[in-house]
Amino acid sequence: MKKLEKLYEGKAKILYETDDSDLLIQYFKDEATAFDGKKRGLIENKGILNNRMSSRLFECLEENGIETHFVGHISDREMAVKRLEIIPVEVVARNVVAGSLAKRMGMEEGVPLKKPVLELYYKSDELGDPMINEYHIDAFGLARRDEVETMKEKALLINKFLVDFFEKRGIVLVDFKLEFGRHKGKVLLGDEITPDGCRLWNKITGEKMDKDRFRRDLGKVEESYQEVCSRVLS
Ligand code: UDP
Repeated sequence: MKKLEKLYEGKAKILYETDDSDLLIQYFKDEATAFDGKKRGLIENKGILNNRMSSRLFECLEENGIETHFVGHISDREMAVKRLEIIPVEVVARNVVAGSLAKRMGMEEGVPLKKPVLELYYKSDELGDPMINEYHIDAFGLARRDEVETMKEKALLINKFLVDFFEKRGIVLVDFKLEFGRHKGKVLLGDEITPDGCRLWNKITGEKMDKDRFRRDLGKVEESYQEVCSRVLS
């Protein structure tokens, strides 16, 4: 497979065309942003670590019957993925109160939820990804009903799998964001699963091991990504 021109450059990744029209190369950068791009920085080696973690997690999901866009690990910062038509709806799954949910509900972070919560957001950088519901998705034609049902079902299955996966490695999966896309009539998981888009807390010490260390200037950012990576690969 030959790498061709750049198709799209996002905040943390670049997508390249390849000589196979069904496949793209997803390249992971070290750049980190937070608060809708207002805070910017570099997390040394993040691209390499995120590529490793995402590759492993996508492989595990595939082994468990959950289809993703992942095709294969190519190099330190590159993976081959299926070309998706991204559905502009981000799905957040939550197990413990944190972040925007803590604010919205006026609660302390850290309260376990009685059951997982799914939230839907309109994928729009300019608007800062506003929260939407299924009425908005229907009314604005963002996705078909059956696609939304598939995304919700898959998000809950992925959550169940990941909670258990991280639990076994001494990590609490607090919440995370997923993106899906269409490929040959199917809805597949796309994007990445990394500490950039997940809240991961050390089960014993409660220490944050994810991008909140960067967002909130807590230090030891690269070390935390390293630690999560070595546990994910173990
Ligand atoms: N998240 C993300 N991208 C976004 C918004 C949220 O990856 O544009 C992830 C975030 O890392 C966290 C989860 O989704 O794991 C829930 O985020 P929340 O709504 O609490 O927003 P935040 O407090 O991160 O702004």
